[in-house]
Amino acid sequence: MKVFYDDAYNIDLGLLNFIHPFDGRKFRKVANAVAGMENMSIVGPDGPISMREVDSFSDALLKLLLRKKRYILRALEVPYLPLVPMSFVDNRILSPMRWGVAGTLKAAREALLGTCCWNLAGGYHHASRASAEGFCIYNDIGITVDVLVREGLLADDARILIIDIDAHHGNGNAYVFMERSQVTILDIYNGAIYPMNGYTRERVNINIPLESGTGGVLYLERLKEGLSRLDESCDLAFVVAGTDVLSSDPLGGLNLSIDDCVRRDMMVFEKLRSISAPSVFLGGGGYSSDSATAMIGSLKGLGNAR
Ligand SMILES: [Zn+2]
Repeated sequence: MKVFYDDAYNIDLGLLNFIHPFDGRKFRKVANAVAGMENMSIVGPDGPISMREVDSFSDALLKLLLRKKRYILRALEVPYLPLVPMSFVDNRILSPMRWGVAGTLKAAREALLGTCCWNLAGGYHHASRASAEGFCIYNDIGITVDVLVREGLLADDARILIIDIDAHHGNGNAYVFMERSQVTILDIYNGAIYPMNGYTRERVNINIPLESGTGGVLYLERLKEGLSRLDESCDLAFVVAGTDVLSSDPLGGLNLSIDDCVRRDMMVFEKLRSISAPSVFLGGGGYSSDSATAMIGSLKGLGNAR
């Protein structure tokens, strides 16, 4: 098992850390905890994804908007900060996210060579070619698929699987792959919270909206049933493994314990192993102090399973 991490993933806003509930330094906590574990190696991308790559993925309007502070702050769901320069936002928030995108790309390359990979960042499933929103600026899965197809590592019609187990519906991924029927999406999420887009929910092949407050027993039952409907193998699988399903999370509205969350990830891992799918797990959302603990538990479980 390879874990993808670099110190540059961490988002530290200094005195402004209070402006968002996201614990931007959790990646370091997780990496420190799993370093040295058996069957686990930590590797990082060589650098952030370039803006040239981001631009080639984005539509013409988004290219412009991604350089506008007001637009970026709105996508990050923080109040407008007149005294904070765009260079601060770029260095402290956007650059770490571009490192995260590069981690997803590198992890996918490794996965295609046969190693199960987990990128601690990434899983920016609300971003698309047309917009940035919901604390997601760059759609790392879309950018990764574009690069791998261009390099000939994936065919144009490659069968890609996205299993989205973050508490929020992955509207960005659904929009990016709206016309690409070879991409299968399973999405299990709180149906009563953002994003409420009917259009993108309809794109999901195995669509599992849950009620607010859903606990671990029902969640795992519904997930198991959804996974049982995936019986074909695929060329590459991504898992958006957000930990905002935890009961302690302030945004997800679900009611899973840390053990439930670990069981969830193991269930997905076992399914992907049973269909021999090259797999990349991604960090996704997760805004509580338990988030790092749950990620560490899952990584231990996956490391021991190999
Ligand atoms: Zn989420």
